[in-house]
Amino acid sequence: MAVIMDGKALAQKIRLEEKEKVEKLNQKGIYPKLAVIMVGEDKASKVYVKNKSKACTEVGISYEEFLLPENTTMEELLQTIEMLNKREDVHGILLQSPIPKHLDILTAFESIDFRKDVDGFHPINIGRLALNRQTFISCTPHGVMRLLEEYHVEIAGANVVIVGRSNIVGKPLAQCMLNKDATVTICHSKTKDLKELTKKADIIVMAIGKANFLTADMIKPNAVVIDVGINRLDTGKLVGDVNFPEVSQKASYITPVPGGVGPMTIAMLIHNVVVASKYLNGIE
Ligand code: NAP
Repeated sequence: MAVIMDGKALAQKIRLEEKEKVEKLNQKGIYPKLAVIMVGEDKASKVYVKNKSKACTEVGISYEEFLLPENTTMEELLQTIEMLNKREDVHGILLQSPIPKHLDILTAFESIDFRKDVDGFHPINIGRLALNRQTFISCTPHGVMRLLEEYHVEIAGANVVIVGRSNIVGKPLAQCMLNKDATVTICHSKTKDLKELTKKADIIVMAIGKANFLTADMIKPNAVVIDVGINRLDTGKLVGDVNFPEVSQKASYITPVPGGVGPMTIAMLIHNVVVASKYLNGIE
């Protein structure tokens, strides 16, 4: 039976550390603040945003929400971002995705001041990650890396297979792994013989959004399995992309869903807001 990587417990530990940092910043007259922009009425986004606001409040980060209607124009969205870029009391800006299809999310991300880009989606921050320089790393990949570090999983030289190549998970995670000297394979919907690749992996990261997709016959004994996927079954149960009951019998380490990568994503967001508020105030 695999060791279960407890993202919930580690996230709680990180939140307490960040809370102490926030208190120290408060003593210097700095009050970290996150602004979240949401456009339209996406049900899942509402839940994510609520969790983020709760976590911020818990560590003493103030939180302001900007709920824009579904028919918001690109110009209006950019004006909101520009206003937040200028506001000195705002240290982090997060544009919750998805946004309505008539809006261009990449242009919107690019218009966020990169120093306030706590999601790490600005091309400057992505470029800095590619160059292995200090930057805002997007929260889910950052959370995965932190979780592996906590459990002393050896990354240098490891054969890492990432299934999923989105801009928010797969691609930045591949870069993080490469920066830590892993040999990285990125898979996606056009990948041939996926099983042949996952079977060779020392570390497998699943990020495709397909319930119970990775089965025990797709991994080698003692592989480390990270499950980023979040899928709600018809029964209402929340599961990942990994068939946890069978894969956990064969893997050496595994993350559960819920309680694995999800809470880590929010903890790293908090971390990034604290870093941004220090950076913007000239504190290392
Ligand atoms: P996404 O943008 O929809 O990307 C999904 C990726 O999976 C794409 O690259 C797609 O390939 C690939 N894919 C789909 N079906 C596949 C298959 N059968 N075999 C191989 N690859 C396949 O998703 P995302 O935003 O990265 O999210 C992925 C999952 O992670 C979702 O369940 C999401 O809810 C979850 N998530 C969790 C967190 C967290 O905090 N835990 C954060 C973000 C996302 P193509 O590129 O070829 O289409």
